[in-house]
Amino acid sequence: MKIKKGRKNRGITSTLRSIALVPTVCMGIGSLIIASFIVYFYMTEETRDGLHNLAHSLYHTCMLAGEGDYSVEGGILFKGDNPFDTGFSIIDNIHSVSGVDATIFYGDERKATSIRKDDGTRASGTLAAPEVVRTVLKGGEDYFSEKVLVNNTPYFGYYIPLRNSDESIVGMVFVGKPRQLVIKAVMHEILMIFLLIASIGAIAMVVSLRYANNVIFSLNKIKEYLGCVAQGNVDAQISQGLAERRDEIGEMARFTCVLQKSITSLVGTDTLTGLYNRRSGGMILTRNIREFLDYRTPFTVAMGDIDSFKQINDQYGHSCGDIVLRQLAVLFTEHMGRKGFVIRWGGEEFLFIYERMERARAISYLEELQDTLHSTDISFCDRSIKVTMTFGTAEYTDKFGNEIEKLIRVADSNLYYGKEHGKDRVI
Ligand code: GH3
Ligand code: MG
Ligand code: MG
Repeated sequence: MKIKKGRKNRGITSTLRSIALVPTVCMGIGSLIIASFIVYFYMTEETRDGLHNLAHSLYHTCMLAGEGDYSVEGGILFKGDNPFDTGFSIIDNIHSVSGVDATIFYGDERKATSIRKDDGTRASGTLAAPEVVRTVLKGGEDYFSEKVLVNNTPYFGYYIPLRNSDESIVGMVFVGKPRQLVIKAVMHEILMIFLLIASIGAIAMVVSLRYANNVIFSLNKIKEYLGCVAQGNVDAQISQGLAERRDEIGEMARFTCVLQKSITSLVGTDTLTGLYNRRSGGMILTRNIREFLDYRTPFTVAMGDIDSFKQINDQYGHSCGDIVLRQLAVLFTEHMGRKGFVIRWGGEEFLFIYERMERARAISYLEELQDTLHSTDISFCDRSIKVTMTFGTAEYTDKFGNEIEKLIRVADSNLYYGKEHGKDRVI
């Protein structure tokens, strides 16, 4: 199959890792932004409500300061005949209890206030911002701002009009919190939420990365295995754990195993007779040599060649020759049983491998096979013939020095000896 060169795809490893990480990170950032807005909104609302209530309680406390209306004499604020809060005890109490600054204005001028200037003295005598004067003093409405400038410092401030008994507005009541303090409290809440989201996000990322890595690991194992098969190593083994997985990857691994079995059978057997082919024969011999070297387990091979097979082909045709080969293969398989393996070495030559067996016993089995051949009629194309074979045997010994070729050469030369000395014999 020709594969066209196209756009290079991203590796599945980085794709899976991105799938595991990107949504979590995006969701984390998104949640943090939304949560920050909610916290800011909620806390400013809460601050506004708190200041509103405090301003009204201060207003009512002022009302209790004395009988009569507010007035100023000699720069001092009076409530009826009483000087109003000359010791600043009402104002300072509010500040020490709640951290909120408070001011009583007469007109637009600060009279009693907890706000201090840079030099530490009270900001009494300073004036309210024009916008406040316009809304509260002149308009008679409450005023709230998140950024009102008090003594050059931005405040969350709440103003209400201060009225005399005839409801005329004579001043203002102010309560406020430095903006910096409110923002600090908001940031503290946001930090808590950030830590919570970061912890949940980290757990989510670890879990999804673990899963992604598990999938990547499994896919790489299958890739490695297929790579081995692609390079011709059809005997490579796929990990058992993968095949036992109960998901699509497990299914892929099981299909791959089936594929491997099919490939092994395709490359390891002969299509005409169904016997093992030369490739498998080489592997069986290698295994037997290893067992001989490790445990001194003997084994014997016999190269068998059908006598005068060319004549069968010539006389009855090649396809009838094929039928003969197939029938003989069945006979050989029955003969060999669990004693070893029969390999179609090539053409009408078969290699018999007798495992865990010395040459003498192998020869007696081969003679039994010869007897079977003598007594068996091979039927094909409405005819039946008898087939004979010549066998050249060789038992593996140290002198072959781990070389299969040398062993086969001895079996071959014995076979030719047999052919030259009348065929139908075991040498
Ligand atoms: P010998 O007793 O000396 O072995 O004689 P032979 O005729 O068996 O040997 P020779 O090497 O002269 O001929 C072998 C023949 O086997 C020739 C070839 O066409 C035939 N042959 C090899 N493979 C096949 C096959 O797959 N099918 C068929 N029908 N014939 C095959
Ligand atoms: Mg031959
Ligand atoms: Mg022959």
